Amino acid sequence: MNNSNPLLQDFEYAPFSAIKNEHFKPAITEAIEMARREIEAITKTEDKPDFKNTIEALEFSGKQLDRVTSIFFNLNSAETNKEIQEIAQEVSPLLSEFRNDIILNKALFERVKAVYNQKDKLELSAEQQTLLDKKYKAFARNGANLPVEKQEELRKIDKQLSSLSLKFGENVLAETNKFELQITREEDLKGLPESFMEEASSVAQSRGKEGWIFTLEYPSFLPFMKYVENRELRKKMALAFGSKAFHGDELDNRENVLQIVRLRYKRAQLLGFKTHAHFVLEERMAETPEKVNDFLEELLEKAKPAAQEEFNELENFAKELDNIDRLEKWDAAFYSEKLKQKRFNLDDEKLKPYFKLENVIDGVFEIAGRLYGLKFDEVTDIDIYHPDVKTYQVSDEEGKPIALFYADFHPRPGKRDGAWMTGYKSQYIKDGKQERPHISIVCNFTKPSKTRPSLLTFNEVTTLFHEFGHALHGMLADTIYPSLSGANVYWDFVELPSQVLENWCYEKEALELFAKHYETGEIIPMELVQKIKESANFHEGMATLRQLSFGLLDLSWHGIDPTDITDVKAHEDKAFEPTKLYPDVPENCMSTAFSHIFQGGYSAGYYSYKWAEVLDADTFEFFQEHGIFSREVANKFKSVILSRGGTEHPMTLYKRFRGKEPSPDALLKRAGLLKK
Ligand SMILES: [Zn+2]
Repeated sequence: MNNSNPLLQDFEYAPFSAIKNEHFKPAITEAIEMARREIEAITKTEDKPDFKNTIEALEFSGKQLDRVTSIFFNLNSAETNKEIQEIAQEVSPLLSEFRNDIILNKALFERVKAVYNQKDKLELSAEQQTLLDKKYKAFARNGANLPVEKQEELRKIDKQLSSLSLKFGENVLAETNKFELQITREEDLKGLPESFMEEASSVAQSRGKEGWIFTLEYPSFLPFMKYVENRELRKKMALAFGSKAFHGDELDNRENVLQIVRLRYKRAQLLGFKTHAHFVLEERMAETPEKVNDFLEELLEKAKPAAQEEFNELENFAKELDNIDRLEKWDAAFYSEKLKQKRFNLDDEKLKPYFKLENVIDGVFEIAGRLYGLKFDEVTDIDIYHPDVKTYQVSDEEGKPIALFYADFHPRPGKRDGAWMTGYKSQYIKDGKQERPHISIVCNFTKPSKTRPSLLTFNEVTTLFHEFGHALHGMLADTIYPSLSGANVYWDFVELPSQVLENWCYEKEALELFAKHYETGEIIPMELVQKIKESANFHEGMATLRQLSFGLLDLSWHGIDPTDITDVKAHEDKAFEPTKLYPDVPENCMSTAFSHIFQGGYSAGYYSYKWAEVLDADTFEFFQEHGIFSREVANKFKSVILSRGGTEHPMTLYKRFRGKEPSPDALLKRAGLLKK
């Protein structure tokens, strides 16, 4: 069986056409066994532990497993079906069991620790030191250094935490699904564009009901808040949305929030950290909660006056228009949209003809060529998983192949929403041989129709640049170790390559390369570009304050000893005080539905969104100072940042590139919050 399983052969390119669903589970099971044998070989050797026989051996173990699982999980996102999803349910526990067994492998940890303890004498390169550190911490941060009874306590906490997060998420989901707003009189929906009306009517039909139905899911909720003129109905929606898991019933999350933050604190203390945020930030560019706090405070101080001004202006606008005396939260999106339309009169339909997908792709390739000397040649002899997928051989200036690039642009059943970058093979150097990466981007862009090519909204254009920026991080990687290669960097650093590339979408010099009318070939008029730029900054002060409020709330839960907090809402109100613009809504609570930090992995990490913006603006300013196509700056960015992955601390890399620490001024200037 194994001999015929294409996933267990030595392959360079993912062998999609030979793979059948029944190959996955046996291949993953066998690859796990292979990896176990490789780990066993490390622990069984008689040789004294050293960097090569322990750290490097561990790093290069499980290669086949990596390749097989990347194919499997990529397909589960981009081209899935019921069978693949069922296999995922079966193999996921096997994989986490395998990972747990490594972390709890005492003999392995003893060897890793023995090498770690002599790290100063080993004369390691910076990359090797980082690898050693990373391997050691993977054990230590899971309690490997603790006495047995403390380890047991830690496992108990981890178990409790995982069931609490699960419960938290289930409650939010149940609350979201529980609510529906049924409208039966068309005049109540005045202002709502036709397409959203149709959507709401088909929801009603699917539930066997009259009229239109709106839910708390974003695609239904957001347009409602933005367009529906009926203020009472907007209020009703806002109160429902803002009070998820805050009704004092069995779905209430207040007790779960308190338990989660207390257990996280306890876990951090067990491991020798002051708070949960200290624990998390040890492996972040920002390093400490104190630094994150200073960062958020500095932005707050600088953005607040602009935000207050925008708020006052919006309040006056609402008063003039509809005699609104006190602007409430449920008025925000509605009047903001109205004012934006009045000021810019810019809609997607005007811009789309300039952004034919093929032109935008050529444009992003051209930009990568000007910056990094890259060339993209479409190839048709590489195995693909769906006829929509395109493949490109990427080469450098000397014509040397550096990567394979897969691009999968359009939605179809079996592909999840959104856009992402991923890979089928890592870059690394082993036994002197350079292995080049296979990188993929997957998007859900408007499909071509019989009469029209695929025309992108401006938002889709920036999304393509964003994902392509991540892809460059992968394609230009040049490190020895795969776990430090490409986008394998700290969380608050990973969005720099992607976000920085979005800046080119707003520049005349770049747009002229590709933003041409699909029928007339006319280059996008510069007054439209100017409008795009200005409207991108519309209400940036208030948007900044909102992001900061979430970051501060996150830190207020995780950067302190939470033992004495008993009232979730009161605690939250206090955390929100410095960023408050709108009157408080007593019926609402954010924390009870803040899934990012209580369910997902963003705890003590919400600041990362703003942090990444600061980095990208500061980086782009450097380009602007020397010309946005400056080869000199691009070369430096490539050699110091993009190619180096996670081989050194991101602040070290960044300072080497920029000559200084990042400053928020470039972001504030770009956002129009600081005069130039
Ligand atoms: Zn991203």
